[in-house]
Parts: sequence; C-alpha cells; structure tokens
Amino acid sequence: MVSQTQKNFALEGCAWCTGTGKWAVSLGYVISCLVCGGKGKVLVAQPAGQCQQCGGSGRRNATNPCLTCAGTGWARVR
Ligand SMILES: [Zn+2]
Ligand SMILES: [Zn+2]
Repeated sequence: MVSQTQKNFALEGCAWCTGTGKWAVSLGYVISCLVCGGKGKVLVAQPAGQCQQCGGSGRRNATNPCLTCAGTGWARVR
C-alpha cells in the first residue's frame, strides 16, 4: 500500500552513462559518471517519469547533459 504523503524512491538506471557508471569524456579517457557518482543508478521519486525535456535520454546534445534532469533522464530525481 502506497501512502499519499510519503514519497517513495527507487533506483533507476542513469541515462547519461546508460547504467554503466562510466563517462567516456573523450576517446581513451573514461571517468566515473558524475551524474550518478559511478553507481550507474540514480534515486528517482516513484512513480518514475522520464524527463520531458530530453525524453529520457539525459542529453541536451552529444556532449552536454540535459539541464532539466542533470543528465539522469528522469523527471523527479532526489
Ligand atoms: Zn551515470
Ligand atoms: Zn532531461
């Protein structure tokens, strides 16, 4: 049973790194994903909804994360 007042959070895949936890900054240069902290997952308020701005891709363009969801691809990230 889900309470109306208590928010539920669940881990969803990070859109920016597609759940790998890695960020390929450039060819041959890979760091931990800054969006999810290298975990590959982000904590999202349930029910999870994709970011309207980027359609869940987490990207504004090829090199920059979506500003609305900060690269997570989800609308309500804690
Ligand atoms: Zn990530
Ligand atoms: Zn977005």
